[in-house]
Amino acid sequence: MEKIKLEDIEAEIERKRIRNIYISINPSTGEVGISAPARASLHTIETFFRSKLSWIRKHRTKISKRPPKIFNNYLSGEKIEVLGKKYRLNVYDYDKEAKVFLNFDSIDLYIGSEAGIEARRESIDKFYKTKLEEIISSALLKWEKKLGIHTAPNSLVFLFKNVQNKLFSRDDGIDKNAVVLRSPVKFCFKKMKGRWGSCNISDKKITLNTELAKKSERCIEYVIVHELLHLKEIKHNKRFKDYMKKAFPEWKKLEAELEGF
Ligand SMILES: [Zn+2]
Repeated sequence: MEKIKLEDIEAEIERKRIRNIYISINPSTGEVGISAPARASLHTIETFFRSKLSWIRKHRTKISKRPPKIFNNYLSGEKIEVLGKKYRLNVYDYDKEAKVFLNFDSIDLYIGSEAGIEARRESIDKFYKTKLEEIISSALLKWEKKLGIHTAPNSLVFLFKNVQNKLFSRDDGIDKNAVVLRSPVKFCFKKMKGRWGSCNISDKKITLNTELAKKSERCIEYVIVHELLHLKEIKHNKRFKDYMKKAFPEWKKLEAELEGF
């Protein structure tokens, strides 16, 4: 692997079949990587790298200020994050199907003593999914009308909602045309690297990162609304951003909470 070092910053160069040079920073380690066209000269790469040094430093400072990530083995005494709060994990031996209970400041995992780390993680992930599902249902109730995204067309429910949409979206809607979906938006959960959610517009399917359950409820709502909004506006254009900023005046705080994978 080719390497380049300027002042105190080192980067690995990866040659690819691309036209431009790109710099990436690993969001957890701060390591710098450069993707460069196969034939780019070292001089060209160096010039580009030099122009990005202060940007890299700024990012690295941000990363170093973040609280350290919690890595779980899912054993008693560890901290488990749920909806923006840390809970003490208690693991109990249990010979039936694994169960998880959330208490005021602790979380109980009932699972067979032979269960390994994978099985324990799976049980916690399953619990995370139920928490996310709860938040999705309440977010949909709250935002469907505001965003003007409706399901079940050709029904009285739809007609009623469409009238509601016209009444309510005058000021806070992104636009006045309701989006009508033939079936409800599907939600699914996945462990994803580097992103909190995605929206498949043609399938009307929103995928949320399971890890999102560790963030605050408001943060989760922010991601859900972002993905829902893509059903009306594909691009992150000004209209999209203006709407999100208006809907979530504390968006900067939420973005900061979501930073750092
Ligand atoms: Zn987006």
